[in-house]
Amino acid sequence: MDTAVFSIPAPDETKTLKVALLGAGNVGAQVARILLEDADALAARTGARLELVGIAVRNVHAPRDVELPRELFTTDASALVRRADVVIELMGGLEPARTLILEAIEHGATVVTGNKALLAVDGPSLYEKADAARVQLSYEAAVAGAIPILRPIRDSLAGDKITRVMGIVNGTTNFILDQMDTTGASFADALAEATRLGYAEADPTADIEGHDAAAKGAILASLSFHTRFALEDVDCQGITAVTAGDIAAAKDAGFVIKLLAIAEKLTVPAAEGADDAGGTTTGVSVRVHPTLLPREHPLAAVHGAFNAVFIEAESAGELMFYGQGAGGTPTASAVLGDVVSAARRLVLGGPGRTETTTGVLPVLGIDAVTTKYCIGLDAADQPGVLARISALFAEHGVSIETMRQTVHRERDAHDDGAGGSAELRIVTHRASEASLAATVEAINGLDVINSVTSVLRVEGV
Ligand code: NAP
Repeated sequence: MDTAVFSIPAPDETKTLKVALLGAGNVGAQVARILLEDADALAARTGARLELVGIAVRNVHAPRDVELPRELFTTDASALVRRADVVIELMGGLEPARTLILEAIEHGATVVTGNKALLAVDGPSLYEKADAARVQLSYEAAVAGAIPILRPIRDSLAGDKITRVMGIVNGTTNFILDQMDTTGASFADALAEATRLGYAEADPTADIEGHDAAAKGAILASLSFHTRFALEDVDCQGITAVTAGDIAAAKDAGFVIKLLAIAEKLTVPAAEGADDAGGTTTGVSVRVHPTLLPREHPLAAVHGAFNAVFIEAESAGELMFYGQGAGGTPTASAVLGDVVSAARRLVLGGPGRTETTTGVLPVLGIDAVTTKYCIGLDAADQPGVLARISALFAEHGVSIETMRQTVHRERDAHDDGAGGSAELRIVTHRASEASLAATVEAINGLDVINSVTSVLRVEGV
């Protein structure tokens, strides 16, 4: 009988992998420092020396957070890429990062990036090009900074079926909502504090409008459901409309408001004309919105600028990953994890299978989602108002779980029960987006309603 003998070559620490670093800002400078300071330890873990052969920046004379050898700096990123085995892209932005990553792939180099903005826009085409060239493209730092989340989803949970992922993946918005929750601050004051402390950028739009979280949501959904999702597949709502009143009312009712990126597998009635067996369609909804969570939910305990990702999987059950979602040194940890992991594969002779996109799950719009809602109403304080509102909910098939009323104006001794206004907070049972929207529209048309002050989704109950 023939016996096949498989042997894995012993790591050869005399082997060298040339590493090119694009960018030496918050993250890049720390990556360079660790590559230089921990060269021996990294070689022992990798099985090859990781030689930093150059650092591309815009201005070679700019002061850096870290003292780095001057001779490594260059402004010719393209030439640097062409002499590297591993390219670490930490420039950010779409161009020239995209062109340089493509050049690296064409040249056969392994690529590590933290560029969620680029991956959100162009991820699917970059992954395809990397697959076709049989090179590795890793991007652990692109979601939730230091938290190891992409590799656990891609590798550790590869034998399981993920059903839902909910993440606090933007530290700036979590800081703002947490400030509002703990101090009672308005959105504007909490944003000013986030800016003062350096958690919010001068232009905070990408954070507070939810775009940054949506980019990360697309990446999480793609890996979790083996299907590629892009930014335009994510239904996105930011936190700019969340008021101190919403936060206080949520708190009173035992909830906290968090900006969540949610990706979940849903089975819904098939659209007319669809030929799915059993008249149903299974797809994935990916969305970002402010969400009420019960205060005892694990994600409710994520304070300040921290991030966390909560995963539900068929066999593993519930898992939570928690840590620092940004910062030069924490993010450098995720980048170097990718570098060592990719370099180990190079040492063993091949890229291996990095991720699978065998799934063909359709994107389900927010209309397919059923969830609970918390609706804030400013209503006339008159007899019969609550009955009229309840009747409208019932008419649209949305059932009310709780209703709370706060009367704003004190009545005097001769009050006949009319006049003044009342703030109502109504939490519904699960309802579809369409039924809820129709209900809200009908309520808005009632003469006793001054305004619908908020409509927020509730999860984790
Ligand atoms: P950063 O501080 O703005 O640094 C960017 C670096 O890239 C700078 O060194 C800059 O050179 C260089 N650069 C920019 N455009 C260039 C160009 N056209 N040619 C050559 N060099 C160029 O950025 P960062 O905060 O380190 O972030 C880097 C990446 O990591 C981004 O994709 C970001 O989204 C991602 N990330 C960051 C964090 C974080 O906490 N900061 C967390 C997770 C992911 P000069 O120094 O000469 O200007």
